[in-house]
Amino acid sequence: MRALVDHHGRSFPYLRLSLTEACNYRCTYCLPDGYQADGSPKFLALDEIERLVRGFAALGMSKIRLTGGEPSLRKDLPAIIAAVAAVAGVRRIALTTNGCRLPRLVRGWREAGLTALNVSLDSLDAARFLAITGHDRFAEVSAGIEQALGLGFDAVKVNVVLLRGRNDDELPAWLEYLRERDLAVRFIELMQTGDNREFFERHHLRAESLQQQLLAAGWQLRERAADAGPALEYAHPDYRGRIGVIAPYARDFCAGCNRLRVTARGDLRLCLFGNFGIPLRPLLQSDDDHDALVARIAVQLGLKAAGHGLHEGLTGITPHLASIGG
Ligand code: SAM
Repeated sequence: MRALVDHHGRSFPYLRLSLTEACNYRCTYCLPDGYQADGSPKFLALDEIERLVRGFAALGMSKIRLTGGEPSLRKDLPAIIAAVAAVAGVRRIALTTNGCRLPRLVRGWREAGLTALNVSLDSLDAARFLAITGHDRFAEVSAGIEQALGLGFDAVKVNVVLLRGRNDDELPAWLEYLRERDLAVRFIELMQTGDNREFFERHHLRAESLQQQLLAAGWQLRERAADAGPALEYAHPDYRGRIGVIAPYARDFCAGCNRLRVTARGDLRLCLFGNFGIPLRPLLQSDDDHDALVARIAVQLGLKAAGHGLHEGLTGITPHLASIGG
């Protein structure tokens, strides 16, 4: 088997696949005016997704994250999960969701083969949650997380984007939340994208101050697994839950990159903030193109840059994360 390794010695067991660009939230840092479709885009269909995943699995990909947009807006999500789970070599299937449909749907996703769940919840305060997301769905999301905790997932994680002046005083509440719950809360440093420059300048907060608070309170950094996501994970003997910190502006963040992305339209994106996408869709129309697909992915990996240009404010062709799959 050929392995997904680039010129910088990084290997890529982890694929993030966007299932749709559509989202029903209006997060202030992502889609403040809501999702606006350009024309009537056709996102990858189930058979295209199966071929795509078989191609990546042939190159050693073993963990896939389904994301968006909001992936739960796809009615065929359980069928997609089941199809991905059936591909030889895929051992872990994770989903990132805004969580508002969890109470109705999460059991079905688990039964279809989902192994891990990430739920976005930017505040533990319902009014703040509404102000940040534009949706009054705090109750559903929190109830959905409780339900997910009883379904035997390998991991349940909660994503919180750190926002200066909006939710940056909530660490004590999150610690209380983690005391008895077997989940990880991951604080994500706000990233600048093509569309959110002004918001970013007002609300960006470096994750380092949070890491210092955690270390001072006795939280300890844990070792990172080869197919782990971008978070540095901290644990504390008095707490059942764990804390992850994703700091994309930290030095060496890209050195640990083990992820490739494919957009909902079937473009391979080598970096969240890259300047180009590589169309894979033409090679997803027939099983006969499997070898050509594998070859195209392997060749393109040689072009993956050592790091993103975010420090220079270079956000590539990413207007917002919903467009590429966050
Ligand atoms: N709709 C799903 C959700 O809400 O989790 C999946 C897609 S969303 C783009 C994935 C994650 O990216 C969410 O946790 C979201 O908060 C985060 N995100 C979006 N824009 C971001 C930005 N500019 N900086 C940091 N995180 C961002």
